[in-house]
Amino acid sequence: LLLPVVLTPVMPMMAQTPSPSAKEARFVDDLLKKMTLEEKIGQMSQIALNTDDAGKAEDMVKAGQVGSFLFVTDPARINALQHVAVDQSRLHIPILFGFDVIHGFRTVYPVPLAMAASFKPELATLAQRHAAMEASAAGVRWTFAPMVDIAHDARWGRIMEGAGEDPYLGARMAEAQVRGFQGSSLSNADSIVACVKHYAGYGAADGGRDYDSSNISDADLENIYLPPFHAAEKAGAGTFMTAYMDLNGVPAAGNRWLMRDVLKERWGFKGFIVSDWDAVHALQTHGMAKDAADAAAISANAGMDMEMTGHVFRDNLPAQVKSGAVKMATIDEAVKRILSVKYELGLFEHPYADVAAAPGKFVNAEQRAAARKAGAEVAVLLRNEGNLLPLKKAPGTIAVIGPLADSKVDIGGSWSLASHPADNVSVLEGLKQRFAATPDVVKYAKGVEIERTGHSIFDPQFPPVPVTMHTDAEKKAAFDEAIATVKSADVTIMVLGESQNMNGEKASRLSLDLPGKQEELLEAAVATGKPVVLVLMNGRPLSIDWAAQHVPAILEAWYPGTEGGNAVADLLFGDAVPGGKLPATFPRSASQEPLFYAHYLRQNPHETAALYWDGSSAPLYPFGYGLSYAKFSMNNLKMSSAKVAADGTMQVSIDVKNDSNVAGDEVVQLYTHQRAGSASRPVRELKGFKRVSLKAGETQTVTLALDSHELGFWSSATRKFAVEPGTFDLWVGNSSASTENHATFEVTK
Ligand code: BGC
Repeated sequence: LLLPVVLTPVMPMMAQTPSPSAKEARFVDDLLKKMTLEEKIGQMSQIALNTDDAGKAEDMVKAGQVGSFLFVTDPARINALQHVAVDQSRLHIPILFGFDVIHGFRTVYPVPLAMAASFKPELATLAQRHAAMEASAAGVRWTFAPMVDIAHDARWGRIMEGAGEDPYLGARMAEAQVRGFQGSSLSNADSIVACVKHYAGYGAADGGRDYDSSNISDADLENIYLPPFHAAEKAGAGTFMTAYMDLNGVPAAGNRWLMRDVLKERWGFKGFIVSDWDAVHALQTHGMAKDAADAAAISANAGMDMEMTGHVFRDNLPAQVKSGAVKMATIDEAVKRILSVKYELGLFEHPYADVAAAPGKFVNAEQRAAARKAGAEVAVLLRNEGNLLPLKKAPGTIAVIGPLADSKVDIGGSWSLASHPADNVSVLEGLKQRFAATPDVVKYAKGVEIERTGHSIFDPQFPPVPVTMHTDAEKKAAFDEAIATVKSADVTIMVLGESQNMNGEKASRLSLDLPGKQEELLEAAVATGKPVVLVLMNGRPLSIDWAAQHVPAILEAWYPGTEGGNAVADLLFGDAVPGGKLPATFPRSASQEPLFYAHYLRQNPHETAALYWDGSSAPLYPFGYGLSYAKFSMNNLKMSSAKVAADGTMQVSIDVKNDSNVAGDEVVQLYTHQRAGSASRPVRELKGFKRVSLKAGETQTVTLALDSHELGFWSSATRKFAVEPGTFDLWVGNSSASTENHATFEVTK
């Protein structure tokens, strides 16, 4: 199904941030020498055209006041603005157009959390390659992705935009996405430059409240929050975006330690850093800057190269340079970094989009096929009592129920702002297409609606699905109709979860339950005694405790994207087999949050299930968990040696057997735990994984390389990173809770 976009050879080439070539350095230096201070600061300014600047674009570009625009996605408009820059501005410097290409551009792929559930980095590479092909066709050569923030708290709405709770999985997904966006070379016309965000620690917002402070110990920063950023940097990401919040009291947009000490100096990052929206301005709100002039100086001196909206750089840096508060060398460094990225993208030579060719690249057959396959590969089967799934090819009549069953908007998920919901296939449509020859088989009733308790920041651009049931009588009639439909059908598929605008930015939740009356509808449907399959659509772990005990089959579909309805139909009828695993722990209650598997060892370790008076502290579903229609077993765990040097590598292998008559995928997961170190160590940590496809009855020996460096950690006691010698436990299994295949090994000096 997937066209052979060959991506593997990219990896070695993109292993490190490339140093600018001598030719590039000369070009950039020559250009810089010709620039006035105002033109330099223009390059450091990114403008949004949905703000006060709307009518002023051309004039600003002509005057050299714009380095980049965001949120312009129409290729004709992009070319028109680019012509002004290239033909009419004094130095003819092309504009870099940026946009949030988070999980697709016109074709929507599964949301990033879902992608992580695939445990298949090459799938993320492929999806982002496809996203880059569409975005670049429109003239968008810069994406504000990947979002690599680790999140331990499912209440935080932006958990959907990242890879979940684990730094090892997060690092693999981060580098994989960079490779997809940037391709084999940034100068390819279909490459777009990645922007790794939100640097750093945004996912640890207090209480899961978006924008709130993140208070993270040095050890957790180094061991949990920074590794995915570092992995993306090592994969060659061209840009970084700072976060909104303050990290341990210092706002990220003014945080010299993050920008200069770690990113630019320790890691040797050669690209440029952009602020988040208006975040330089907000240094005043945070109480770090006394006025806008101060904010501009603090941010630029701390290492910020470009300001996203706000005009704080444009309006204040000239005077701050003249007064000596900001050195010209600081400005020059920022501008060189920005011009270098433009040069590497080939913008000076090929600044324009091919307007005529663009439409043919959008939502074409290749994109749809890739999206459909991706939609199936991210699904996680949470429960399947009595092997209710897959459904029989001719199951009799099917009731399709729920507020998300026929929503073309919700199936795309949040942050799919360039997409057209009309292109999306809802679950109902996917099922109807499947039974096109016998249309009476599929009976639909919405049952309930998800009423809004908050507002999304994207409501103006992307209107939510309107509520149609207003009176109690209307609501009751719809509920009763749904239950009657369940009773009249042989099997019921309920599509429940969160509306897409309940996830993403400024979309934190107090509860992790199914919102509104959905739980009531689900319980009433199950009470009919008819077989019920629950298809979940959501962007965060949910506390579906009742469903986990009473609904026979639960399929976590996340927001699967444009082809989501077809992908779900493929899964329900066995044309695709679920093989995803949870990238974040599912709690029993929101009160358990933050909840994650790799917690530190504590006294009374065996009481993990009983730390609360009034309920369990154990998760509902652990990290790494997921079932299949096939049945797998793992045994014969082997290590190449029971001793490994602190700078060595060992091979760990296991036999995975498909004990069923269905082909399927299993994810082999390797976890370790250091028994004693200079500081307390997590109970277990993911250190390797591989998703493998096995035919019915097939056995494969899967080998994972375990590099000792992965076992190192930054210790709060020694205040440095080291691979500390000692005894380690090792488990290889199919979730963070599996215990069967256990061994120990020693790390020696
Ligand atoms: C978000 C970023 C995003 C930017 C531009 C901000 O509000 O935090 O993630 O890239 O807007 O859309």
